[in-house]
Amino acid sequence: MPERTIRLVKPTPRPSVSEFAAKHRKLSRDDSREHGSYSWKRAPYQKEMMDVINRRGKRKFVAMLSSQMGKSLTQMNILMYLMVVRPCTILFMLPSIKDAKKFSKLRIKPFIRDNPLLSELVKSSGRDGNTLTEKSFPGGNLLLIGSNVASDLAAVTGNAAFVDEFDRCAKEAVNAAGDKEGDPLMLLWKRLANDPAAFVYVSGTPTIKGASPTEDLWDRSNKMLYMIPCPDCEKLQFLDKSRLKYKEDTLEDIHFRCIDLTCSGKLTRGVVQKAYFKGTSEWVETGNPAAELSGFHLNQFYSPWRQWIEIVKEIDEARGVPSKEKVVQNTVWGLTYELASVKVPDWVKLHALKGDFVPGIVPKEACVLTAFTDVQEDRFETTIFAWNRNRAWVIDHIITPGCSVWDLDDEMYDLYEKTILEASWPHENGRQLKPRHFFIDSGCFTSRILKFCQKHRNRLIPTRGEDRLESTFSAPKHTNITNRGRWLKRGVKRWNLGVSQIKIDLYARLNLLLDGSDKDQGLKIHFHKKLPEEYFRQLTAETCYVEANDFGRPKCKWIKDKYFANEALDCAVGNLAAFEIEGYNRWSGEHWEQELEKYQIVKSRDEFRKKAGRSAAGSMI
Ligand SMILES: [Zn+2]
Repeated sequence: MPERTIRLVKPTPRPSVSEFAAKHRKLSRDDSREHGSYSWKRAPYQKEMMDVINRRGKRKFVAMLSSQMGKSLTQMNILMYLMVVRPCTILFMLPSIKDAKKFSKLRIKPFIRDNPLLSELVKSSGRDGNTLTEKSFPGGNLLLIGSNVASDLAAVTGNAAFVDEFDRCAKEAVNAAGDKEGDPLMLLWKRLANDPAAFVYVSGTPTIKGASPTEDLWDRSNKMLYMIPCPDCEKLQFLDKSRLKYKEDTLEDIHFRCIDLTCSGKLTRGVVQKAYFKGTSEWVETGNPAAELSGFHLNQFYSPWRQWIEIVKEIDEARGVPSKEKVVQNTVWGLTYELASVKVPDWVKLHALKGDFVPGIVPKEACVLTAFTDVQEDRFETTIFAWNRNRAWVIDHIITPGCSVWDLDDEMYDLYEKTILEASWPHENGRQLKPRHFFIDSGCFTSRILKFCQKHRNRLIPTRGEDRLESTFSAPKHTNITNRGRWLKRGVKRWNLGVSQIKIDLYARLNLLLDGSDKDQGLKIHFHKKLPEEYFRQLTAETCYVEANDFGRPKCKWIKDKYFANEALDCAVGNLAAFEIEGYNRWSGEHWEQELEKYQIVKSRDEFRKKAGRSAAGSMI
């Protein structure tokens, strides 16, 4: 603890970083919410995060933080301290050389300009050679480097090194010849001089569990958590995610419950601010004290620049949507997001949840259709979804049988044309609906399917699943196909679907449905009452595993249950993508209402159902 260390260490005439910064640091208008003189009083957790560089022993630091904690601010304070008080060679590593140049322009330039102590120093170095990535000052240099370029690292020896946005840094630095030279952090560590005061300071917002180097370092550190005393029992405690409480309907009464279950104390924003003001909050080591690394971890609830109600709104809005939940987990909580937690929905419960609407008929609350066809060697499987703004109904799953997808004259194609492409689906209120387009998977049997799409240009659109895409889909590309041995000048447009991301979102939505959450969150999916068990087994036939790709970035690997087919899942994923490709997700509430109004002529249900008795080509039901 600080007091003990101060007693042990021989007093040094040098000021501490926090004292120095409070006295000399001027904040630039360009890069901070506050400007003028720096003070750590509003965010006292910053004090130890700066002073730690002068503590004896530990020479490697990691700060695993949410966003908006003043991370850059503390780094720059240390930087200024080194330049003025302890000049030396300082390495500042960012993910890429492009990031380093941007950082130099946007942060370092105003930093030097607005701090007279620094602008004098940099000017008086007598060197005109200052560039974007290299700044000289008497007794030292500041070098900005990109983690992906190893040659930058090999040429220098430094006394202090900073690493920013560590999760985005390259896992392997590459030299000019294109050879991999190893972990940039290790290279950086090796480049530090044999100086007892040399240190590496890594900071970053963690990303994905199992693939976050920032979290790896934190796990190996002494794990310092910032503790606030309970207003009732005075027990020091961390503002832990698991103890955040608030009224779900009104988002009021936001607090962290006291860690002691017998105490009814509430840690509110006011309590935290008061602790900051009174100086009763402090860093406490919760990991191995003998660890080589000093680790700091904070979430946004500690930030004096964030209102708790705003944070809670963000958390609440993200619930149930994995892509948003990930952002909240990383930037609000400063924690990794666990992709492996993609829970496979329970098909038995889904089967039991079936709606009471009739297959083949568009429910009166819906007004648009999407369709997606999965291609198998001897059949097509097509699912039709009906939609309104935040609900979807699986109204049909149709199997078109045949002999072989390769057979050009196979009646399977004729049957598909008649029963799918030319079909329409009756709306409960009388009218007939068609999907604007039919989407079909062309990942397998590609040339044959593309040829079929060519025949039905503008009606049948080919897609291909792409695991690497982090979004739902990417812009379509023209695909040249051979037509009787000739290359067509302009092939059909094929869309790439980010199937991995869509599956994650689909599973989350199904789980939400099973949890029976009454809250109107995200999209609700309904299934018609005649869908068989097999459909639900197929819909949940894949499990997600997270692994690292060649670049060390996390990747979802979806493994299919070997006993079940997954056509229903592929079709559902295709329909969710189709909804976005058609742009329905961008329709305003008003647009949906206008569209729904067109279907308000109510007919008698019985008359209507009689009319609706279509003969599908071999429906799954
Ligand atoms: Zn308490």
